[in-house]
Order: sequence, then C-alpha cells, then structure tokens
Amino acid sequence: MDSVGVAAAAPDAGPGPAWQSKCPWGAPSTTSISCSLADVMSEQLAKELQLEEENAAFPEVVAAAEGPFITGENTDTSSDLMLAQMLQMEFDREYDAQLRREEKKINGDSKVSISFENYRKVHPYDSDSSEDEVDWQDTRHDPYRADKPTTTPRRGFIGKGKDITTKHDEVVCGRKNTARMENFAPEFQVGDGIGMDLKLSNQVFNALKQHAYSEERRSARLHEKKEHSTAEKAVDPKTRLLLYKMVNSGMLETITGCISTGKESVVFHAYGGNSATEDKVIPPECAIKVFKTTLNEFKNRDKYIKDDYRFKDRFSKLNPRKIIRMWAEKEMHNLTRMQNAGIPCPQVVILKKHVLVMSFIGQDQVPAPKLKDVTLSSEDMKKAYYQILNMMQQLYRECSLVHADLSEYNMLWHDGKVWLIDVSQSVEPTHPHGLEFLFRDCRNVSQFFQKGGVAEALNERELFNAVSGLNITADNEVDFQAEIEALEKMNEDHVQNHGKKLSTFSSDGDPPIYDE
Ligand code: ADP
Ligand code: MN
Repeated sequence: MDSVGVAAAAPDAGPGPAWQSKCPWGAPSTTSISCSLADVMSEQLAKELQLEEENAAFPEVVAAAEGPFITGENTDTSSDLMLAQMLQMEFDREYDAQLRREEKKINGDSKVSISFENYRKVHPYDSDSSEDEVDWQDTRHDPYRADKPTTTPRRGFIGKGKDITTKHDEVVCGRKNTARMENFAPEFQVGDGIGMDLKLSNQVFNALKQHAYSEERRSARLHEKKEHSTAEKAVDPKTRLLLYKMVNSGMLETITGCISTGKESVVFHAYGGNSATEDKVIPPECAIKVFKTTLNEFKNRDKYIKDDYRFKDRFSKLNPRKIIRMWAEKEMHNLTRMQNAGIPCPQVVILKKHVLVMSFIGQDQVPAPKLKDVTLSSEDMKKAYYQILNMMQQLYRECSLVHADLSEYNMLWHDGKVWLIDVSQSVEPTHPHGLEFLFRDCRNVSQFFQKGGVAEALNERELFNAVSGLNITADNEVDFQAEIEALEKMNEDHVQNHGKKLSTFSSDGDPPIYDE
C-alpha cells in the first residue's frame, strides 16, 4: 500500500473537485497512482484501490448527509456548491435508474445475469435511503469509515450516569457489528444494514464474517486460476462457464490445473467441494475430463460410435456437437458399469454436457503414473499382469465391454494395483468391430508384459480366447484375424436377420448366435 500514492481531490477542497469527480463531463480526476508492475497484477492492489475509492467517496456522502439539504431543514439555495451538488445527485440518480432499466432489459428472464453495479453513480448504500433519516450517528463513529471502529476504553464503559454504555450494550454492539460488515471484501454485498438500523448479534456477525471470508477466498482462487492457467485458454467460453458453475455451486472447491491435453480431451485436476449433489459425496480430489468440442478431432472416431447399437438410433439424428456429448456420456456409462463390477476405475461424480467429473486417481494433485511410465519390480509386474487378465475378463463378461484402447497408456498404477481409465471409446463385444478391438487390446497387453519380462504372459491369441471364452484355434495371426472377422460378419448377419436386439456373448463357450 505504501507504494501507492493516491492524490484524489479532498472533498472539502472547494467547489470544483468535490462534485466534478462524479460528473461525467467533469475534468478527469488528478489521481496519480504509482506502483510496481507486480502490484498491478495483484488482487490485493485492486481491493485496496477500491477501498481507497470508497473512502474518497464516502466522506462526501457523509458531508452531504450532515449538510442541510438532505434533512430538508434548510432550503437555502444561495450556495452554488449546494445547488451543484443537488443537481449532481439528481443526475446520478437518474443515471442509475436508467442503468437499472438497461440491466433488466438485457438480463430478461435469463438465469445468468449481468450486473451493471460497477457503473452506478450513487453508491448502493446511498441510493435509496439517503433521504431517510440515517440513524448511524448513534454509533459514535463513522460507520462508513472502514478502518478503525471506536474502541470502548479499557475500563469497559463510556458515558456518565444513566447514559453509561458498556461494550456489552446490545444495541451499540449490534450497530457496530452492522457497520463492521463494511470491512468485508468490496464484492461482498452486505446491503443497507446501517440505513435500516440493523443490529447484528455477535453470533450472526461472526457467521457472516466467516462466510464472507470463505467467499472471498473462493473467488480469489477462481480469479487466480483464470489469470494464471494457460490451459484455461484451451477451453472455450461455454466450457469455462460450465466449470465456473461447478465451482460456484460448491461442488468443486477449486480447479488447480491441467493434467493432460490430448487430441480429444483436456483433463483437469480439482479439489472436491462439500456440496453433496444428488446424494453423492464428492471425492476429495477430482479429475475433470473435458471432451474437445473442436469437431474435426472426432471424425476418425465415428467408427466406434456409429456402429455401436446402443447409440445407433440416436447417431443419425444428432448434430456433431451432441455427438461429442455422447462420448462423454459413453465414458460415464462405461465407467459406471465397470464400477458396478468392482473394476478399479475412476468413479463418476457428474456429467454436464461434454464435461465429465470423476474421482482422481492419484494424490495431492499428482496423477498416478501410467503403466508405461512406472518401473515395477518383477513381482509387481506379474501381479499387474494377472490383475489385468482378470479385469479384461470381468470387463468382457460382467460389463459386456471391450476397452478398445487398452494399453500401458490407459492403465494407471496406484495403490499397488492397476486402474483402467479412458473408456469413452469402449464398445460392446457385439459391436461390428468389437472382436477386432479386443484382439488389438490383447496384442498391446501381451506385448507389454512379455517385453516387461513376465514369463507367464499369454500370447495375444491365447489372451483373446481367455478373455472372450471363444475358442479360435488358428495358430498364426493372419488366420486368427480372419476367423475373428468371420465371426463379426456372422454376428452382423444375425443382427440384420433378427433385428437390432443385442445378444451378449456368453462367458463359457460359444455364444448362441454362432451356433447356426
Ligand atoms: P485421452 O483420451 O486424452 O487419452 P484420458 O482419459 O486417457 O484421455 O486422460 C488423459 C490423461 O489424463 C491420462 O493419461 C491420465 O494421465 C490423466 N487422467 C485421466 N483421468 C484421470 C483420473 N481419473 N485420475 C487421474 N488422472 C487421470
Ligand atoms: Mn488416454
């Protein structure tokens, strides 16, 4: 604060500056502010400047309130200053009324409203009540002066005889508390408590203070993130609004930053808030997966979803933006299925359009490493392998899903086990290419563990059979793949002939549709 020199015109510096500073046509104020560049960026400075501004404005109001024309007792019109001030007040009031009309017109019935508060001429506390008798003189100190409230002397009382008031006097304390609300952050709307002669009990005041403080912290954090996160720039305004609302509603405490920027999604880390939505407890740490709304990134994914029978009816009717939402929706459904089967994976918190919030795998903002990035002991490696074999079987049999992008890139090592992530592209085994996807998954897994020195690791064909329960006997890759494709073709013919109804492959032996 020391580095900021504010040379605002003092309110009693003569007729000119006192009202000119308010007048839209008046000379620009001679305020000179000098401070370091770092200070310019700081929230602290903004707040101090605002306080400074308010302090500069309030004495005027006080002076006016004490002056004759407010009380109506003095109708002396001989003073030019007085007349000018009165006209200015009138002008300001009209200006504000117009502003309010515009604000109303712009906002309409919209749930998200734009406030013109900052453009108002007459300070909100002054606008409607200034003509009323303001009863704050009783509080013995100027309530608009935010700095030092009058302290009761150490002896604990003031006044004499029957006029004695102690620091415990309810009325005085109450008014003092109301006035002290002015110390809250400028953006915290406290209303016109003073004008209403509101007397706040200590208990109420403390609760409000606590609330104001945490609000201030929250908005500061939000602001800070907005300023500093470069990843934020990758997010379009609509997404930003969605994220903002999640924080604003208290569902998320704060969004700390970006974990990953991929071709199709951006993943953020966030601390969970304490507002339980839909009876769900928000995990302490969350991952927010934002599916990119740049459409061209998704074109090559069509094959996954277009032929997915679960989405077939909807696909043709949807615009591209909605298709992107379906990716998010798909990931949510798939994660829920996996969760229900007890497969370690992120837990879904909420889905809003193309933004999926889930539990964070990792700790203290550090995401769990991908299997490709972690060096495991041979014992852990073997453990991980068997766990994955197990998970693939569960996924296929209990969830009726094929991951379709399973590799060491989409498996995280956390808490001594493997967690599956990134399941937006996962499909049912009866997807026209479902078995091919499964085979590819098997190849990735086998190769990774064979290279990783797990002697027990099945080769890709063995793994495929172990997972699907199918018994493809071809002993080379080409024949094996040909058989897979033949099965897919049979499946598709079956679907064509028997309508769209899905038939899931049974876990033991051939699925019924292949019996024909
Ligand atoms: P993409 O389609 O971009 O690959 P992913 O779902 O794989 O999307 O997420 C990208 C990266 O973000 C992951 O590799 C992982 O590091 C991180 N990530 C995603 N979800 C979570 C989560 N729930 N917890 C921790 N990290 C996650
Ligand atoms: Mn991924």
